[in-house]
Amino acid sequence: MASHNLLILPGDGIGPEVATQVERVVDWFGKRGIARFETERDLVGGSAYDAHGVAISEDAMKRAHAADAVLFGAVGGQKWAGVPYEHRPEAGLLRLRKDLKLFANLRPAICYPALADASSLKRENIEGLDILIVRELTGGVYFGEPKEIVTLENGQKRAVDTQVYTTGEIDRITRVAFDLARTRRNKVSSAEKHNVMRSGVLWKQVVTEIGKEYPDVELEHVLADNCAMQLVRWPKQYDVIVCDNLFGDILSDVAAMLTGSLGMLPSASLGAPDEKTGARKSLYEPVHGSAPDIAGKGLANPIAMIGSFGMALRYSFGLTEAADLLDGAIADVLASGVRTRDIAGPGVNTVGTVGMGDAIIKALDTRG
Ligand code: NAD
Repeated sequence: MASHNLLILPGDGIGPEVATQVERVVDWFGKRGIARFETERDLVGGSAYDAHGVAISEDAMKRAHAADAVLFGAVGGQKWAGVPYEHRPEAGLLRLRKDLKLFANLRPAICYPALADASSLKRENIEGLDILIVRELTGGVYFGEPKEIVTLENGQKRAVDTQVYTTGEIDRITRVAFDLARTRRNKVSSAEKHNVMRSGVLWKQVVTEIGKEYPDVELEHVLADNCAMQLVRWPKQYDVIVCDNLFGDILSDVAAMLTGSLGMLPSASLGAPDEKTGARKSLYEPVHGSAPDIAGKGLANPIAMIGSFGMALRYSFGLTEAADLLDGAIADVLASGVRTRDIAGPGVNTVGTVGMGDAIIKALDTRG
């Protein structure tokens, strides 16, 4: 059985609490002989700053480069509000994204039937939802130059951000979306604004060309503003949505909130495939932050972090059955009524972080 090398970077706040639960799940898969994982832990964020004076050490970066996948908890907190900008906790995450060249951000929005009533949409519009937003993460208006605020001769100021994409950047993110669609329901919706933006015109052209290489995958083009409306009207019409950095930022947050708590949302960031092995660098992390308000209290919901490991099983290791098993166990736990505080209605009994971990391990035992 192949062994997979996992680097776990718990980070700050609730990061270590939820990371401990994911380690239990990783161990479960190892013990059951479903897959073997070599795991290492290292510091990132404020905890790395406290130990090494930087948000991620060179040693940890080396391990991240060598790992088959990185599992990242969360970083940040008031304690580090005053540290120099280049050493702030978030700098550790940004360095990982940059050095591992993680250009593709995957944000699933899945609605477990047991939580459908927690959504702001009606149950019939949301129950069973399973969509994936593929966002370009390293280009576009957040990075384009010039990016500045200048003072004009008349005393007014002028701010500029530059939306810029090359065919290569659009090509590689589009291929990720089409490849993923093939593992799902074979549909890609490309969201841009070709009606008012030149970058949108190029985006649409490149996506159309690549679509011809995937005749088995349905391709539709949708204006990004219309996509936002459709997401809150009838999200189940989508399978994979591919978009640039700015639109992806907004559309993935819209999709996320359709499904309830931050504590439920996993994500993945993928790099380019290695020319020799085809393996991609990858980092998996919950969407939530370090939640200082509940850190150290044992209240955090570990599902987003455990679901992030599920994405690693699916997208880094090709262990689809193991990923389905884990998703099924999470669904069973929710269906049985087990809730952490963030996903419980008023008056509902709740469990803590460890209790939710226990329930997921028990559900795995039952299914596996
Ligand atoms: P947050 O996601 O940490 O918390 C927002 C709210 O959601 C809080 O009320 C929190 O208790 C709750 N919450 C979050 N995760 C939860 C979980 N797993 N279970 C139960 N409840 C959960 O966002 P914030 O409060 O804006 O930021 C707090 C810190 O986290 C800041 O320092 C911020 O910079 C950092 N942050 C880090 C990341 C990251 O590491 N990727 C992302 C976002 C924010």
